[in-house]
Amino acid sequence: MHLYIHIPFCRQACHYCDFHFSTNTKNKRAIVEAIAKEIVLRKDYLDSNNIETIYFGGGTPSLLDTSELDLLLNTIYSNFTVNPTAEITLEANPDDLDPQKLVQLKNAGINRLSIGIQSFHEPHLKFLNRVHDAYEAGSCVKIAQDAGINNISIDLIYAIPAPDHSILNLDMQKAFDLDVSHISAYCLTIEPQTAFGSWLKKKKIKPIDEEFAAQQFEILIAGLSEKGYEQYEISNFARNAQYSNHNSAYWKQRPYLGVGPSAHSYNRVSREYNISNNAQYLSAIQQNTIPSTIEILSAADQTNEYLLTGLRTKWGCELSTLEQLSGYQFQERNRAEISEMAQKGWLYTDNGTILLTRAGKLFADRLASELFID
Ligand code: SF4
Repeated sequence: MHLYIHIPFCRQACHYCDFHFSTNTKNKRAIVEAIAKEIVLRKDYLDSNNIETIYFGGGTPSLLDTSELDLLLNTIYSNFTVNPTAEITLEANPDDLDPQKLVQLKNAGINRLSIGIQSFHEPHLKFLNRVHDAYEAGSCVKIAQDAGINNISIDLIYAIPAPDHSILNLDMQKAFDLDVSHISAYCLTIEPQTAFGSWLKKKKIKPIDEEFAAQQFEILIAGLSEKGYEQYEISNFARNAQYSNHNSAYWKQRPYLGVGPSAHSYNRVSREYNISNNAQYLSAIQQNTIPSTIEILSAADQTNEYLLTGLRTKWGCELSTLEQLSGYQFQERNRAEISEMAQKGWLYTDNGTILLTRAGKLFADRLASELFID
C-alpha cells in the first residue's frame, strides 16, 4: 500500500496555488499530533499493512521540525510494516534546505526529495510569490546531494509570461547542470481562488497564452528527451527509470491511504476526502472522528479515472484492466473512437494496452474523455 501525509502549512501563499494550506503555523504541532492519531485510527483502512511508499506532501512538509517528522515516522513504523526499500519522499522548498536540515531529513529516513524550485529566474520567482530566491534555487540541490540524498526531483513551472523562450531555456540548462534524476514540469494555470485568479478577474493580468504554453511544453519535451529524461507521465520526466513510485501508484489505480487535512484515500471501491480546514480537522480527530466524505465509485467512474490517469503515462491502459474494472469489452465498445484517434496518429494499441503517441500526449485529457463510458 501507499501512504500520503498532507502537511497543511506554508510560509507564504504563492500567487498561483490552490492547494490546501495555512500560513498561520500556530497549530502546527497540534495538527501533526492529530495526523499521527489519524494514522492510528485508519491503520486498517486498506487490507494490506505493507507500505511500499510514503509521501509527505503539502503545503510545505519541509517546515516540519525533527521531532514532528520523527513523531509521524515512528507512528507509521509502529502501526505498519514498512518495506526496507520503501521510497520515502518529502516535498521541500529551497529556503528550508540547509546542510543541517538535510542531515536531519536523511537521518529521519527520507530517501527522496521533491524540491519546489519552479524557476531559477529571480523576477519569475517574485512574480509567483515564492519565498526562495534564485541563489537558493540553485544551491539547495547541491546541499542535498552533499548530504547523501541523490534521489531528487525538482518542480519547474512553464508558460510564465515572458517575451520569448529564453528564460525557459536557461531554467532547463540550470536544471541539467544540477544533474537531478527527476523533473516535474507543470504549466502555469490560473485558478479562481488564488491571487492570480482575483487579478485576472480585475484584468490586472492576462490569461495564460495557450499557444505560448504549448510551444514551451514542446521545448521542454524535446530538451529533456535530448538529455536522457524519459517522459513517463505527461508532466514527469525521469532518467535511468528513477520514476516516482508513489505517484506512479496513483496513476496505476493502486490503493492508498491519505492522512491530514484535505488528503484523499482510495481503496478500489471508494474515494474518501478529508476536510480542507485545519481547525475542523483538529477538532474532529481530537474526538476520534475522521472528518471526511466518501464517494462510492461506480464501475464507469473507475474505468474513466483509469483512462484519465493511465493514458497520461508510458504504461498506458491495459485492456484487461479496463475489462476487469467495468466488465466491458472496451475495444469493442470504443472501436470507432479508437480507430479515429489511431488514424490521426494520436493513439495506438500494443500488446493489449492502449497508449498515446507523443502527439496524442499534447491533449491527453481530451482524448481520454472521448473514450469515457457512462
Ligand atoms: S505552491 Fe507549495 S509552497 Fe506555494 S503556497 Fe502552494 S503548497 Fe505552499
